[in-house]
Amino acid sequence: MEKKKIYKTVEFRPDTRNVFFHITTFCNLKCKHCYINPKEHGDISLDIDTIKKWLSLFSPDKKFKENIDPLKSCNCIFLGGEPTLNPALPDAVKEAKNLGYTSITIDTNGYMFNDALNKINPADINYFSISIDGHLPEINDAIRGKGSFNKIIESVKLAHEKGFAVSSIFTVSQKNLHSLRFMPDFLNSLGIKRFFIQVIGLRGSARSFGDNLQVNIKDWLEIVPDVAQNASKKNIYVTYPKVYLDKNDKFQCAGIVAENFFIFPNGRVYTCPLCEDYSLHSYEIREDKLIEMPKICERELFTLDVPEGCVMNKLLHPQNIPYDNEGRVTSRIACCMLKEEIAPIIS
Ligand code: SF4
Ligand code: SF4
Repeated sequence: MEKKKIYKTVEFRPDTRNVFFHITTFCNLKCKHCYINPKEHGDISLDIDTIKKWLSLFSPDKKFKENIDPLKSCNCIFLGGEPTLNPALPDAVKEAKNLGYTSITIDTNGYMFNDALNKINPADINYFSISIDGHLPEINDAIRGKGSFNKIIESVKLAHEKGFAVSSIFTVSQKNLHSLRFMPDFLNSLGIKRFFIQVIGLRGSARSFGDNLQVNIKDWLEIVPDVAQNASKKNIYVTYPKVYLDKNDKFQCAGIVAENFFIFPNGRVYTCPLCEDYSLHSYEIREDKLIEMPKICERELFTLDVPEGCVMNKLLHPQNIPYDNEGRVTSRIACCMLKEEIAPIIS
């Protein structure tokens, strides 16, 4: 059968909820681009009773917008820190399933602590999504820590043997951009069929590296779509951030038109990941109840209409915005949650 490839911008859907649940901020690694900021996110792991109560605050039966009824999907992503360091993870997965979350993913650094591969039922999760930041140990380990590459490879193999689906996340920075072109072949050799390319965010510890880690517009546009297409030719499903809007693209802020919740163990709940380094969260969980935060928080920022597109990028990363000689924006910055997808389609 002939295969067709398609590029598609994934539109924000008001009937889809994504719950990014950081069940711990602890981690065994110290990645150069780590976004965890203990001052803002806390320095704790949640126990299973708390996780259960907090999962229920965002479960599919809960309504955040009056005109959306019912949700078509409600996706739960467990992450950290390293989520497998929290021994409550297997029970948290079961609870998410019981509550009717449509899909469950675990974002992990691949160390699979607490016997996660044996304690979690492959039928209960959609993916283990493992971070890999290079196709060679020297590239990956320079970013994620010595020995992490071999551990990742071992875990991918074990996870496949046990029947888990595995996807991979690659965070693009100046430190590993040269490795990206080799990733489709590398992932193919590992049997990984879903690939998330992420752009490095200057959050958490990445901030101390300043602009040196970020990829410029020219390199991004030259390399990333090409790699994505190449991966799709190898039957790998690829998702990557749009980053720059085309002239006729409509700008939309996910904070207004979508339902994304980023929950941290200290109870802060953000709806924009770029706000996570600041006390700008939309909600806070206090005594297991969800409280809407008063002004001024991220919600007020979302409504600011700026020619640059994303207001948080304008405030936090003005150096990434291309202007012409007269100070006009030449490419607007898309919402960081806006993705392009390329999927091999069997016709
Ligand atoms: S990026 Fe993830 S794996 Fe790396 S140190 Fe931070 S929490 Fe740990
Ligand atoms: S990244 Fe920008 S556009 Fe997206 S939710 Fe945040 S402020 Fe809105």
